[in-house]
Amino acid sequence: MVIQEQSSPAIMDELVITAGSSTAAGGRPENEDAVLVVELPPSGDGVSRLDAGYLVAVADGMGGHQRGEVASRLAIETIARVVQEDPGADTALLLKQAFRRANEVIHQDSQGVDAAATMGTTLVAAVIRGKYLAIANVGDSRAYLSRANQLNQITRDHSLVGEQMSQGTLSADEAKKSPNRNILMHALGHRPKLDSKLPDIFELVLLAEDRLLLCSDGFYDVVSEEDFVTFLATRSPEEAAAALVDVALERGTTDNVSAVVVHVEAAKTVAARDRELVTGDERRSSQVVILVVLVGVLFFVAIVVAALMLL
Ligand code: CA
Repeated sequence: MVIQEQSSPAIMDELVITAGSSTAAGGRPENEDAVLVVELPPSGDGVSRLDAGYLVAVADGMGGHQRGEVASRLAIETIARVVQEDPGADTALLLKQAFRRANEVIHQDSQGVDAAATMGTTLVAAVIRGKYLAIANVGDSRAYLSRANQLNQITRDHSLVGEQMSQGTLSADEAKKSPNRNILMHALGHRPKLDSKLPDIFELVLLAEDRLLLCSDGFYDVVSEEDFVTFLATRSPEEAAAALVDVALERGTTDNVSAVVVHVEAAKTVAARDRELVTGDERRSSQVVILVVLVGVLFFVAIVVAALMLL
């Protein structure tokens, strides 16, 4: 499922932010991933003023009888509602509240349903306000930041192998091949209350040319970090997200795949590019006018010549 509400790119101070998403069932019969891209208008005034921005998220649901699909949808619907209802709050705190609420909503929805239908979901979400970025995470969907063509994984996986890597008992290569790599230590919806330490929160200041990627695990099992950097650097957010999902499908992912891409550009770069496009259009339209006049003149000459010959 995709929720995308988008109009013009949000212009904030000197940065222009754009976002796009893509998701596919990939190697599974159902797509239990869900993605979210919502534009946030500016809010408040004075010192509590928040610039315009975006809320973006990826959720990877799990559970029998299509319950994974329900869990990921409830997660993104709940954070979209909570973040938009009270946009004036401190962003990190707002994300914490939104994750707690999503956990409760999913857990309550599982009550009274048989044990086979127990459901849960990962959730990684980012709120961008002007140049400020806050990311919240539970589970093993990831946020990456590409800056100056260097890819940095921002989130830590709440998985068994992720914890073993943090403790230094497992290398990144061993983790990729481990049979335990899909075992999650935390997810939304499994317990009535979310662990008090969760979600993990990361706060950053964005720079022009930054690229943010949120993705589900169907992705990083088959797509390398070098590929991430290449695709993020060269295309618009929509195109980059679609191309990354396509490459995961081509490489035979056995899982659902989802990507949300956010581009950060300097407003002056965007303005210069737009001017270049307009000048290009003007040049092309003046060429068309000259061509039309030329054809008209030739046609007129042909008629005059034909008339003279008939006389
Ligand atoms: Ca998955």
